[in-house]
Amino acid sequence: MFTRARKLEMSENTAPHHDDVHAAALLSGRQPALTGCPWHDVNEMLQSAGLRPTRQRMALGWLLFGKGARHLTAEMLYEEATLAKVPVSLATVYNTLNQLTDAGLLRQVSVDGTKTYFDTNVTTHHHYYLENSHELVDIEDPHLALSKMPEVPEGYEIARIDMVVRLRKKR
Ligand SMILES: [Zn+2]
Repeated sequence: MFTRARKLEMSENTAPHHDDVHAAALLSGRQPALTGCPWHDVNEMLQSAGLRPTRQRMALGWLLFGKGARHLTAEMLYEEATLAKVPVSLATVYNTLNQLTDAGLLRQVSVDGTKTYFDTNVTTHHHYYLENSHELVDIEDPHLALSKMPEVPEGYEIARIDMVVRLRKKR
């Protein structure tokens, strides 16, 4: 009953918060790492982003946010959706990923200008790009900084710095 009351209370909040999700999972006696975001929270995320929680969006949201922090390309998500028997087109996957990015629920990380990854972790952090396996991995040090910043043209300010450190296996 307590969990239920807690969930109702959460649904009244406009913006879902990850701590609340984890707290709810803890209260219900489950390990947050294993459960990820419940269906309920994907619904909340979509609603708070002003997106109608259609079956397709719910299913894609579940695949995206239900497994912790992830870096996925549209093609990777499309493949997962197909394997999970979610009837969705690649175009819908692209649209949904862009809508979630515009809503601030995902962050885009581009590598090579051709490959775009969508990161479920929207906090400030940088990445390793593993060239051999085409994988994006978080750099754990959040205080990583450029030792010298470029002078930005007048009238501009730095919005964000995305650092991608490319790694390859030693020969
Ligand atoms: Zn990341």
